[in-house]
Order: sequence, then C-alpha cells, then structure tokens
Amino acid sequence: MTVRATTRGAERTSLDGTRADVLICGASFAGLAVARELAATGASVLVVDRYEIGERQTSACACPTPWLHAMGVEDSILQDLPHMTFTTPHGSVKYRLPWSWSAFDYRALCDLLWEQCGEARFETAKVEGRGPRTADGDIVVHTDRGDLHAAVVVDALGWRRVLSDPHYQPPEGPLTRALEVHPADDGAGDALDVWVDRSLARRGYGWRVPANAEVRIGVASYDPEQHVKAQVVDLADRLDREPAGYQGNWVPHRLRPAGEDGVWFVGDSAGHCIPLSAEGIRTAFHFGVAAGRGIRSVLAGGRSADAALREYAAFSASHARSFGFALRVQRLIPALPPRLLTLVLRIIGRQALVDRAFGWYLRIADPSFGERANAERAAVAADLPVAA
Ligand SMILES: Cc1cc2nc3c(=O)[nH]c(=O)nc-3n(C[C@H](O)[C@H](O)[C@H](O)COP(=O)(O)OP(=O)(O)OC[C@H]3O[C@@H](n4cnc5c(N)ncnc54)[C@H](O)[C@@H]3O)c2cc1C
Repeated sequence: MTVRATTRGAERTSLDGTRADVLICGASFAGLAVARELAATGASVLVVDRYEIGERQTSACACPTPWLHAMGVEDSILQDLPHMTFTTPHGSVKYRLPWSWSAFDYRALCDLLWEQCGEARFETAKVEGRGPRTADGDIVVHTDRGDLHAAVVVDALGWRRVLSDPHYQPPEGPLTRALEVHPADDGAGDALDVWVDRSLARRGYGWRVPANAEVRIGVASYDPEQHVKAQVVDLADRLDREPAGYQGNWVPHRLRPAGEDGVWFVGDSAGHCIPLSAEGIRTAFHFGVAAGRGIRSVLAGGRSADAALREYAAFSASHARSFGFALRVQRLIPALPPRLLTLVLRIIGRQALVDRAFGWYLRIADPSFGERANAERAAVAADLPVAA
C-alpha cells in the first residue's frame, strides 16, 4: 500500500536518520517519473518534496499528447490542441501539427503518476543540501526534518539544483524567466498560440494554452534580467482577459551535468528543458524514465551505482546537439527582422515542412522511448527477464 503524508505544524515530526535504498528529492514531473520506474523492484523508495504531491502547479501544463499516453496519465487531459498559431506584428500563421499538444490538470497528472509508484513512500520536507557520505557509503541529504540517508539519491528539485554546489542564483546563469496567469475561459480555440513580438519580450515569446474552462496566458524572456509581469498583463489585456492567478518560475536553458558525485540530476536540475520553447515536461519524463531504468539496473544487483550513473550522464549529454541547435534558434529568432521572421513562418507553413520541423522537435525526446520502457516495467512487475 502506498503511504502519502503531508505534514504541517506539529505533524512535522523528525525524520532524522531515515534510510532508504533510493531517495528522490522533488515530486513533480521528473521525480515522479523516476519513482514510477522503480515500482515493483522491492526497493525502499522515499520521495520528498516541500509541498504535497500535485499541490503547486509549476507550468502551463501543455505536453505532447503521446507522452501523456506513454506515462499512463491521459485521464488528466483537459483539452487536446492539434494546432499551433504563431503571431508576429506582421501577421499570423496556423499550423496543423503531425502530433497534438494536450493541456492537462497538474494535480490529476501527479496523482496518476503517484498511483503507479507502487510501494514508494512520500514525506513533506524541504531539502537544504547534501552532507558527506556515511561510513557505509550512503549519501546524506539535509532537510528541515533532519538528515536522510540513501545509497542512491536523485535531485529532481528543479532549476535550483539544490544538491549541487554551487547552486544557480538568478538572474545569473542560463535561465529563462517565465510568468503566466490562468483566467477562466471556455472558448479559446483548439490551438496553442504563440506570439513572437518584441513589444512583449525583446528576446522571448508569449503564449496562450486553452485548457477547457480556463486559459493559461504567459510570457517568457530568455533574458533573465528582463521582468515579464507588465508584459503578461499586456497580453492578457490584448486577449480581453483578466490577469488572474499568477504563477512563475525560472527555467534552465542549457544542459548541465546529469551526474555529480553520486547524485542523479533529472529534469530542470539537469537543464532538461528545451531552450527554444522552455518546454520541460516531456523531457523530465524522458530523462526520468532513463534515470529510473539505470537505478533499477543497480537495484537488480547487476551494476555498480557509479557505472550506471556514468551511463545515464552520458545519455543525457548525448542530447547536447539537439539542445544546442534549439539554443542557437532561440538566439537567432530575436535577431531576425520581424518581417523576415513572418515570411519564414509562412514558408514553413507548408504541411510537409510543418511535419518535418515538428517531427524533429518531437524526436528530441520521443514518446516511443516511454512506450518501450513500459514493456520493461511490465516485465519487472511480472518477474520476467528484462530485454537488454
Ligand atoms: C510559467 C511557466 C510555464 C511553463 N509551461 C510549460 C508547458 O506548458 N509545458 C512544458 O513542457 N514546460 C513548461 N514549463 C517548464 C516546466 O514547468 C519545467 O521544465 C518542468 O516543471 C520541470 O519539471 P521538474 O520535475 O524537473 O521540476 P519542477 O516541476 O520545478 O519540480 C520541482 C519539484 O521540487 C520541489 N522542490 C523545489 N525545491 C525544493 C526543496 N528545496 N525542497 C523540497 N522540494 C523542493 C518543488 O516543490 C517541485 O515539486 C513552464 C515553466 C514556467 C515557469
């Protein structure tokens, strides 16, 4: 039976000295994707987060639909978005994608992931950093509820990369600043809308994600020094919506080492967020699945933790080319004269080119990776040998 605890006030008893085979710090997209891979391994898995699972939405929650099916969380979908529009000051284009986006409900998605995490245990705790290893080689993690010990530790804590030293401190570092609002709306169409308009963000873009009864309207700036609140209000105003329900965060836009001194970094903590779009949910799934498979091979007794972590870090680094290309496009777009950009968007609008461009984009973290991993998880659950 899964144990779920959200502890507040007097309930926040000490966890000092608690030991687990695997400690996963962070219970959002990346952390839950790792924990899901470890179900049925028989290992003790402890997941910690400063908030209850699903309590704090961290994004506009739009993800390629095939990834939501691959992760078994399709019941969290609020609205399917088969189109994208791109608007500049000189015009607008609408593309039909070779795959669709889905806007989903964050809490429902987290609950559906957690249901797949088997015997994993959850505790609310704020992670403060790591300590030296114990005499028997465990990694020590300091939290506000005491020190936790584990043979394998995952940092899925987001952009701050808490278990690394030094941490990232905005506005320095390769970070995108993003903020959005969530006004009620039930008629915002069937497209994920993007604005590339310097009056909104000198280097960045605005978006609107229809999500059934609400719409998520936001602005991202690749320049971390540029504040975006007034621009979000401006975009909401242009769309005739009240800017209600603010939510914002930093998003990394460069890959970082995914293994460091025994710790597995997954999701935003490893910069697993596509620099051009600041899209980091399916990549958190993708690398979470990869890390979970690597950790599973350690738990099965076949591999040393160091060798498995090196292999995972190399897998992450092997994406440097596509992430690097996305970063170059991120820099190129703001440098293009807006009329030329509008022309380029129109040319790409031919269906064959849309299919090609968005096919490449999906393959950066392809849902087939998650589907294949499901077969392995099923084999582990049935106690069958896992195909190499
Ligand atoms: C406004 C905005 C809109 C976005 N929209 C999209 C989108 O539509 N689609 C998309 O793909 N990406 C989007 N992104 C990017 C996406 O949110 C991130 O890439 C994604 O959330 C990364 O997942 P993660 O699990 O690595 O980290 P996070 O989702 O950030 O999760 C980190 C977890 O760690 C916990 N945590 C952090 N610090 C501590 C601590 N010290 N102790 C304990 N727990 C801690 C947090 O509570 C959280 O649960 C958006 C980002 C922003 C800011």
